Amino acid sequence: MKDTIVINNLEIFANHGVFSEEKTLGQKFIVSAELYTDFNKSVLTDDISLSVDYSSVCNDICTFMHDNTFNLIETAAARTAEMLLEKYPLLSGIKIEVKKPWAPIGLHVEYTSVILEKHWHNVYISLGSNIGDKLAYLNNAVEKLNLSDGCVVEKVSDFIITKPYGNVGQDDFLNGALLLKTYLDPYSLLEKLHEIENQANRKRTVHWGPRTLDLDIILYDDLIISSETLTIPHPDMHNRRFVLEPVAQICPYARNPVLNKTVSELLKSV
Ligand code: ADP
Ligand code: MG
Repeated sequence: MKDTIVINNLEIFANHGVFSEEKTLGQKFIVSAELYTDFNKSVLTDDISLSVDYSSVCNDICTFMHDNTFNLIETAAARTAEMLLEKYPLLSGIKIEVKKPWAPIGLHVEYTSVILEKHWHNVYISLGSNIGDKLAYLNNAVEKLNLSDGCVVEKVSDFIITKPYGNVGQDDFLNGALLLKTYLDPYSLLEKLHEIENQANRKRTVHWGPRTLDLDIILYDDLIISSETLTIPHPDMHNRRFVLEPVAQICPYARNPVLNKTVSELLKSV
């Protein structure tokens, strides 16, 4: 059970909508939210600075919804949730509903609304480079990721020199891992990683071939995904010492939910 602060039916006059009249005249929106946090410290001390101040959150929602204009209430809801997650470090997640009671649809309806959730996730990412200034490529990737919206790099492992895997006859690798706190979903995160790889002049030619920068998602909370473009946990992590060693250094007890083994257990048997 998550500790939750509830905001119910906060009224705001704002300018979201596809039609230009909605953007100029404005209309009423009603926002409800569940703010997920941990009450243990605030209850123990009875100190508001150790909780999330709902008065301040309500004001921030009003200001943000009022000062921005989006076509969709989906976007308004998502951007508002992201703003709150970034501003209030004690929030672990948020569920938000944006209602539009005056939606111009020419029919009688009490309201239409969207509901979405955003949470901070813990993600382990492996980094590798074996062309050019390897150290600079890895450091750059860490910095770019940390500067990306919805991404905070929390821990970075030491970088280790390793022998190439699979396709030999290429230069040694520099490998590392990082712990990322992010509210991006796995596919948006993969896209972000590809963007950073491409900016490092990554050419996708030979599979397991030399590369300026390789960024792989190793674990994403305890999520399991297997699709054409994305497999989480990384399907080969348990066979790769150059992945396990750096991840084990920053979090030995991170667990692969498919194999049900911790990274340090996997490292012992690699
Ligand atoms: P590799 O990392 O195996 O050497 P690439 O970096 O060229 O190979 O990645 C090839 C494709 O692997 C990517 O385009 C991506 O869609 C897919 N992929 C599947 N699962 C993952 C994952 N967990 N992390 C990163 N890429 C993944
Ligand atoms: Mg890769």
